[in-house]
Amino acid sequence: MTKDMKMQQVSENCFAVVCEKNRVCDANSGLINRGGGVVIDTQSDLAHARQMIEMFSKVWSAMPKRVINTHEDGDHVWGNQLFVGAEIIAHRSVPERMKLVANPEEIQHMLHSVASAPTLQALHPGIVAAGLQLAEDYNFDGIELVLPTTLFDIRYELNLDGTEVHLIYVGPCHSAGDTIIHVPKEGVVFAGDLIFRQCTPMGWVGSYEKWFHGLDLVISLNPKVIVNGHGPVSGIEGVTEMKAYLQYVREESKKCFDAGLTSLDAAKRIEFGPYGEWRAPARLYMNVERAYREFRSEPPDAPWDQAATFDAIYKVAKAKGIEVEY
Ligand SMILES: [Zn+2]
Repeated sequence: MTKDMKMQQVSENCFAVVCEKNRVCDANSGLINRGGGVVIDTQSDLAHARQMIEMFSKVWSAMPKRVINTHEDGDHVWGNQLFVGAEIIAHRSVPERMKLVANPEEIQHMLHSVASAPTLQALHPGIVAAGLQLAEDYNFDGIELVLPTTLFDIRYELNLDGTEVHLIYVGPCHSAGDTIIHVPKEGVVFAGDLIFRQCTPMGWVGSYEKWFHGLDLVISLNPKVIVNGHGPVSGIEGVTEMKAYLQYVREESKKCFDAGLTSLDAAKRIEFGPYGEWRAPARLYMNVERAYREFRSEPPDAPWDQAATFDAIYKVAKAKGIEVEY
């Protein structure tokens, strides 16, 4: 059991489970407790998923038969198997992407091997640092990919005993499958990884333009409460701060790009500013690299070398003289 997970009621029928450490893999889950209940995102490993279920079970009358995955990343889908027989709903791209983005067995193997591989430390210090950090909180044993079964393209609507729930596709901005869930009657948006709150966003597939569109859409829905993919629950300031961060990084990246710096050197040079207070600020590198990919007219789904990415974040943290954290 982790002490760093808590349940929070955010409206009459909506709840959140928030992973308060707010490092990589510490994703949040949601519950709309109407019409048999809908769970939104299922945590990174089985222990966290079981704890989330135990917390939500204090308010639901039975295990929900519906799950929504806001996108394909492991930290949002690797607890799916505990919802046996559930209808799992996601954007059409998600099942194929889930098979591509990460393999829980490989990651578990990596966690076992990092501590006892001195050559790996020299080759990939970022992989070792990330592996040691993940091993503090996570165990990826026993995870089976359970893919979404109900797929949609643009919008999908549920009616839970008179409470409408709107699933709106906003990707690709942070990943291919990005979906937000709006519960208009209760003024709640579950934003998935469109919004990282008080931690530095890590985006994989998508464009800045789409990300801004998605954030503007959340603003236009005028929610009272936003359950973010990572970090604390927020009001509208969660969206505006996220947008300001992305605008800042893209503008600073452009100056560095025009000056001929590499994305790694740019990330070392760009000031964290107020965002140095956010968790894992050296993840800035990924946002700079994404901007560079756009300046070079590369496609939004250009693949990432994950080892090189974790190493680059490590180097940025070292260059800035801060703790290496993911
Ligand atoms: Zn996430």
